[in-house]
Amino acid sequence: MLIDNYQRQVNYLRISITDMCNLRCLYCQPKPEAGWKIHREILRYEEIIKLASLMVQLGIKRIRVTGGEPLIKKDVLLLIKGLARIDGLEELTLTTNGTKLAQFAEQLKENKVDRINISLDSLNRERYSSITGGGNLEDVLAGIDEALSVGLVPLKINMVVMKGINDDEVESFARLTLDKPVIVRFIEFMPISQQGVEWDERYLPAYILKQRLSSNFEIIKCNSVSHPVPLPKGREDNSVHGNGPAEYYQIKGAVGNIGFISPISDHFCVSCNRLRLTPDGHLRLCLGQDAEVDLKLPLRQGATDEELQRIITQAVWNKPAGHQFQLDRPTGRQMVAIGG
Ligand code: SAM
Repeated sequence: MLIDNYQRQVNYLRISITDMCNLRCLYCQPKPEAGWKIHREILRYEEIIKLASLMVQLGIKRIRVTGGEPLIKKDVLLLIKGLARIDGLEELTLTTNGTKLAQFAEQLKENKVDRINISLDSLNRERYSSITGGGNLEDVLAGIDEALSVGLVPLKINMVVMKGINDDEVESFARLTLDKPVIVRFIEFMPISQQGVEWDERYLPAYILKQRLSSNFEIIKCNSVSHPVPLPKGREDNSVHGNGPAEYYQIKGAVGNIGFISPISDHFCVSCNRLRLTPDGHLRLCLGQDAEVDLKLPLRQGATDEELQRIITQAVWNKPAGHQFQLDRPTGRQMVAIGG
């Protein structure tokens, strides 16, 4: 079991498989090229699978593949297949911007991806293009439809809400849940590294959104999230329990759900169960702090499995108590190279 100094059990690993993305979201990676790592610094698939297997042996139960944009990475399904085969792994999920999803949804499902999260910050074509540096909204909407049609459910749509940029769309996003079996989650904008927008001016706490939505809709708090559509095998209990930091609600009569993730206004560090593996093979212990431990170097220098597991166990023990976004903005990596 992986346990830290604060008695938190760590059982969730997010693996960022590339620091490259086909979008240029203004809050995530306004100037990406400068940050890109050269090819040999990026973990190869067999290295990722090896490290992931060692961590599953130590107690990781769930893995999320992220990026950059994971679906632009060459032969990504080979990696997915390799991860899905790890003995003892209970859940494999993926986070994507959705632009390539229409083409990949069915294969992801076939290759045992349990669920996906889609990042989408606007339902307006021009605005979507401007936030993402040229993205095409239709591609993402087609990806959502395809994911639903192949049964990649429950499907989560994550919106980073920024004051004066897209906050006037939260009601429209909430309305998506009225007749679609989706979970729309509103995420607080976090200050990480250099961004193309000022965090202080754009940050909007989730409780304000909650108030706004409750004045426009009748919303009911959920302890667990019910889904009207069949869940993947082994998940027939028809509910998603809080294995993440979101707080869930439902608009009365809606098919889907809404959720709020508030890493700033009401952070959940005390129950943090996460580790992150960066594209260049560093174990990042906290999203909001630059503390990392290099695994690639010992791996490539021929460390044994036991040695690598000792490094991982020790790193987890030293996981920071929590982020300090407002006091000390992490500057080491842009979000695109962490994976969210
Ligand atoms: N390309 C994939 C995607 O778009 O989901 C995965 C990588 S992306 C870095 C992961 C998530 O991080 C996205 O949902 C994105 O909106 C979120 N994100 C990036 N920068 C953020 C910030 N400053 N505050 C909050 N969320 C952020």
